Amino acid sequence: MASIKILLVDDVQIERLQLSIRLERLGHEVVTAANGTEAIEKYPLVSPDLVLLDVSMPDMSGHEVAKELRNSYPEWVPIIFLSGHDEPEMIAKAIDMGGDDYLVKPVDKMVLQAKLKAMQRIAEMRHKLAEATVKLEKANLQLSKQATEDGLTGLVNRRCLDYRLQEALSMHGRNGLPMTILLIDVDHFKAYNDNYGHIEGDNCLKKLAETLKTTFCRAGELVGRYGGEEFCIVISNCDRDSAIEHCQRLHEAVYEMAMPHAFSSTSDRVTVSQGMLAWVPTGLETVENIYGLVDRYLYKAKQHGRNCYVAAEFI
Ligand code: GH3
Ligand code: MG
Ligand code: MG
Repeated sequence: MASIKILLVDDVQIERLQLSIRLERLGHEVVTAANGTEAIEKYPLVSPDLVLLDVSMPDMSGHEVAKELRNSYPEWVPIIFLSGHDEPEMIAKAIDMGGDDYLVKPVDKMVLQAKLKAMQRIAEMRHKLAEATVKLEKANLQLSKQATEDGLTGLVNRRCLDYRLQEALSMHGRNGLPMTILLIDVDHFKAYNDNYGHIEGDNCLKKLAETLKTTFCRAGELVGRYGGEEFCIVISNCDRDSAIEHCQRLHEAVYEMAMPHAFSSTSDRVTVSQGMLAWVPTGLETVENIYGLVDRYLYKAKQHGRNCYVAAEFI
């Protein structure tokens, strides 16, 4: 049977020694403490699978030590009390104080072995539970990432974008400050895919996402993947004049990427068109309405010859 780590607490040196030798002979790892204070100090350092705790000790009783351990540590490590008394009241009190079992001294060899066997099972279960909890936490983290992140670009996905946009609409509706939304669409991307291949198309989207992320990385700036080759940027506390500067900045950043696109009739490199809306929300807007509106300006940018931005005049 697997060995367990035992914290043995007893104020009587000879009893401590004898029992620890017996436990070690049974193959267990033993750390001893001569009083309650030492036990409480050692407990977090040792992380035992089992505490064997003498009830009567001069500075702190075993009951007090058990209570302190139970109050300080949420995970339940078995505690077995050791005592020279075997009155039912003593046993009942020990369980009430947070103990799991009770052994009468001098401890019978067979009884000790049997109880240790039971505690080993508990220790194994606890270890399995701890491992499962770690796995579960990792899986949860992964899931929550998947729920909000776009797999290809690492930007926030459409679901998260919708949620954050709704939050921004409500917040600006309350504080009366302007906000901006940009919808960005890659120009002639079908031709890019058709000629360079889908994998290169994916790489192009990843690089564009990276540029958008570094261009709009300040607090209050959110970049998301709106759809296939379309991105969306939401900027808090941003009026129309600043929004136009942002559009220009984005235009230049994409230009400087200089990703060749020999099959574009607009430029020798990958370009994007932008629709922009900057306004003070009333708080009554819906995400769908706003996307619909800004999409009209994106469409106008396409009509204007692409590789440009068109801003809404007012709404
Ligand atoms: P326009 O300048 O008018 O926007 O033309 P376009 O060719 O970019 O527009 P269209 O809507 O005809 O084509 C968009 C293309 O984007 C088609 C689609 O296959 C591609 N696309 C969408 N999502 C992805 C993706 O995740 N990866 C790749 N590689 N291509 C994608
Ligand atoms: Mg498109
Ligand atoms: Mg396009």
